[in-house]
Amino acid sequence: MGRVPGASDRIACRNSGWTFAEVFTKMQDFSAAGRAMTPRLFSDHPLLELQASEQSQVQHVRELCRTTIGPAAAEVAREDRFAWDTFRLLAREGVVATAFPAAYGGSDARQVLRVRIIEELGRVCSTAASMITGTDLSARAIVAGASPALKDALLPRLCRGEIQSAFALTEPSAGSDVRGLTSVAQRDGDAYILNGSKKFITRASTADWFTVVARLPAQGRFVGLLVPRDAAGLQVSPEVGKLGWYGVPIASLTFTDVRVAESHRLGEEGDGFSLAQDALLRARIGHAAMALGRAIGAVEIAATYGGDRQVFGKSLGEHQGVQWMLADMATQIEASRALLQVAAQKYDRGDADGATFASMAKLHATDLCMKVVTDALQLTGGRGYLQDFPLERFFRDAKLNQIGEGASEVHKTVIGRDVVRRMASAERHPCLREGPLTDY
Ligand SMILES: Cc1cc2nc3c(=O)[nH]c(=O)nc-3n(C[C@H](O)[C@H](O)[C@H](O)COP(=O)(O)OP(=O)(O)OC[C@H]3O[C@@H](n4cnc5c(N)ncnc54)[C@H](O)[C@@H]3O)c2cc1C
Repeated sequence: MGRVPGASDRIACRNSGWTFAEVFTKMQDFSAAGRAMTPRLFSDHPLLELQASEQSQVQHVRELCRTTIGPAAAEVAREDRFAWDTFRLLAREGVVATAFPAAYGGSDARQVLRVRIIEELGRVCSTAASMITGTDLSARAIVAGASPALKDALLPRLCRGEIQSAFALTEPSAGSDVRGLTSVAQRDGDAYILNGSKKFITRASTADWFTVVARLPAQGRFVGLLVPRDAAGLQVSPEVGKLGWYGVPIASLTFTDVRVAESHRLGEEGDGFSLAQDALLRARIGHAAMALGRAIGAVEIAATYGGDRQVFGKSLGEHQGVQWMLADMATQIEASRALLQVAAQKYDRGDADGATFASMAKLHATDLCMKVVTDALQLTGGRGYLQDFPLERFFRDAKLNQIGEGASEVHKTVIGRDVVRRMASAERHPCLREGPLTDY
């Protein structure tokens, strides 16, 4: 059953340009999309921007999180083994498919939908959320650059979760500064001979295919190659222990004279860097969504504790100092959600400044998540520090969002450089008189 439209619908109507009837129908569609909506601490207003069928998908993922992924999250994160059950569930339920084009069995989902789905997953389980951002990272270059024959052979199976790919960019001497890659792909007839090593590669222990970015010798350009797991000369190290993000292990790769057929090149020679940037762009938007989901979950947990716990004669949540902390967290999260929404819209439209907004969204959301999770853990006292309380896991998982897909400092550099570059040709501030400011 739907509800009676009210003042908030009139505001939505005014702001969106929809007729009142359209806004009301959207609300009805959303209510009808799944089980009756349970009120949430963080409002569902971003969902109003989605079509009814998209709202149903968010609702479906929310239900999966409530019934399966959320209750299983602690167990999934107990050991750093690939969480096959979670991955198969996400594949079976069509969540993995959101990353793939319809022509290959995917649902070609808009980013404005995907950020909502990833936010839902991140609210309960970083492993599940990272399986979706990791799918973008590892499969996007195949979608964008593989030959038609390779796409036909691989994409439907990747989409159904029957096989996996991994994205191998980072090297021991090239992380933030990816242009420092030293892996080399030397042309040899109708193939490339690949030598070098890669570090921190998610899914290295489970992937069937590796998207590898390497340098073309003497050209200063990069090439993307698709390397099968069983290629002669490819060695995968044992999994490497880490602080969090359990359920999606990492390992290193070594390539020794690995012969890769030219037909397995992604795009043209010289496209390697742009293919990597395209994959990273989608994954960055996903990281922001995951971080916001986790931050939302952390505030929900802290606010619940604030209601349950009595201190100094009243509930913890009735203390003004605690309310101010919660107010800061909730306000910042809503601001960050709004920024992410803009970044996702820009990506969907293909706006020229989409990458800068993705950097802003990722920087803001991931730094905010680390702060929110730290404060939420503080608010839950000793319980927050225990392993059987979810915030300990949230706390460990939050750190990687600030490092992976470009560390926060790298995004600051990208954004700051863009500000300085654009100001050179932007309108001069009307309060300034002519001439260099150094003459004031
Ligand atoms: C769990 C995990 C999974 C990963 N999965 C993958 C994967 O699947 N595929 C892949 O290719 N890579 C992957 N990575 C690698 C990841 O993308 C890199 O760790 C990240 O890009 C940072 O590179 P780095 O670790 O070499 O840090 P470095 O480049 O050594 O930088 C260290 C720190 O220096 C600071 N810094 C760097 N540059 C600047 C600057 N210009 N100004 C100011 N400060 C700066 C930042 O704080 C940064 O964190 C993964 C990493 C981890 C930990």
